[in-house]
Amino acid sequence: MAPGTPPASVVVVGAGQGGFQTAASLRDRGYTGRITLISAEDALPYERPPLSKAFLKDDAYLEGGAQLWLRPATYYVRQDIDLVAGTVTDIDRAARTVRLADGSAYDYGHLVLATGAGARTLDVPGARLRGVHTLRTAQDATALRQSLAAARRAVVVGAGFIGLEFAAVARESGCEVTLVEAAERPLARVVCAHTSEHFARLHRAAGTRLLCGHEVAALRGNGRGGVAEVELTDGSALPADLVLTGIGAAPRTELAAAAGLAVDGGITVNSRLLTGDPHISAVGDCATFPQVRSGSRLRLESVQNAVGHARLVAERLTGGPPSLTYDELPWFWSDQFSTTLQIAGLDEGHDGEVVLSEESGAFSVLLFNGDELCAVESVNRPGDHLAARRLLERRVPLGPGEASEPGFTLKGHLAGRRRGAGVPAD
Ligand SMILES: Cc1cc2nc3c(=O)[nH]c(=O)nc-3n(C[C@H](O)[C@H](O)[C@H](O)COP(=O)(O)OP(=O)(O)OC[C@H]3O[C@@H](n4cnc5c(N)ncnc54)[C@H](O)[C@@H]3O)c2cc1C
Repeated sequence: MAPGTPPASVVVVGAGQGGFQTAASLRDRGYTGRITLISAEDALPYERPPLSKAFLKDDAYLEGGAQLWLRPATYYVRQDIDLVAGTVTDIDRAARTVRLADGSAYDYGHLVLATGAGARTLDVPGARLRGVHTLRTAQDATALRQSLAAARRAVVVGAGFIGLEFAAVARESGCEVTLVEAAERPLARVVCAHTSEHFARLHRAAGTRLLCGHEVAALRGNGRGGVAEVELTDGSALPADLVLTGIGAAPRTELAAAAGLAVDGGITVNSRLLTGDPHISAVGDCATFPQVRSGSRLRLESVQNAVGHARLVAERLTGGPPSLTYDELPWFWSDQFSTTLQIAGLDEGHDGEVVLSEESGAFSVLLFNGDELCAVESVNRPGDHLAARRLLERRVPLGPGEASEPGFTLKGHLAGRRRGAGVPAD
């Protein structure tokens, strides 16, 4: 195959956000070869963000799962995307074939690994008791929703995004909620202390007990197979009839590793999202990739990242320029109660912060590395988030001094730069 010539067929392993988008973007770009999208889940490709939010409380989601679907079944027929249910167990790189657990096999011209991540589980006694949940799939969310309907006391282990989002829904449904977090503050790995404190206050004000700096030692049963109590390492015990473990996700790399591909906390890809094999790419939660801006290797878990990766791979496979590398600005959101947190950019260690507008629970924190803006965390300030994304994408200069001036706004700064320094209009 000459460089730049599209492969005759593309097989995508995993039909989550990244796998679906790879197939969809290939067709959007006019790719006419065979596309096989293989899903280990017995469902049409669906989006995960509502699983820890609206899905748990909104009855509209109960009607056959259609609210979650990324596209209806007819889409795959119309686009000639072969949606295959099954788990890929083996990649034969020499023969360019993948094999499924049921023994069937598919040849590929190019293979895209979009295997995502799996929820981490607690490694303590009692972790398999009834009423103990993780949350990654629609099936998990359905089971969690059923448990929540009957629960009176929920313990959430881990105050990351999924733990906090579920805690908010559980409180809204009238459940007593205790959040147990090993770090000294919620969201410690992902937001600055100022934003963490805001979310700690928000959850405490809603009546949730937030225990930071605590770890789980064991889960104790009620004698009938269900969970009754969460025992902490300090010896204290929390009564619970529902436990959600929200302690992060591990990338699914086994398939790649068994095929001899490099793995470094994710499937290793270069800035073109190619593995060491020129016929295999990896996208989304399962992939670690070099960040063009900082040079550091990253693995991100977000819709934006999975979609951005997928689009780049589709462009590359349909004759995109050889210089094409992945350099999208990361962004993310989380909904808790009536509060929306949006993050633009990436904080890999900041040394300066400027907080904009602190009125009525709405603010933005600008994070600086020296004289460079690296990320903006916005709470109920969608306009700031959009302006921050534009500023960061275009690398518009902004230092903490200028951001601290009275009357400074991100929108104003963007507009001023557009007028004064030729920043392109939208
Ligand atoms: C509850 C929840 C809430 C979230 N909320 C947000 C949010 O608010 N904002 C945000 O930006 N992101 C959110 N995310 C993260 C976002 O959903 C993920 O980053 C995104 O789904 C990643 O897409 P992916 O394609 O890499 O992986 P996934 O969507 O996980 O898809 C991977 C698929 O591959 C399948 N698979 C794995 N191995 C095989 C195999 N061997 N054979 C066949 N199939 C296989 C899996 O079964 C799975 O269906 C949330 C995630 C969860 C779980």
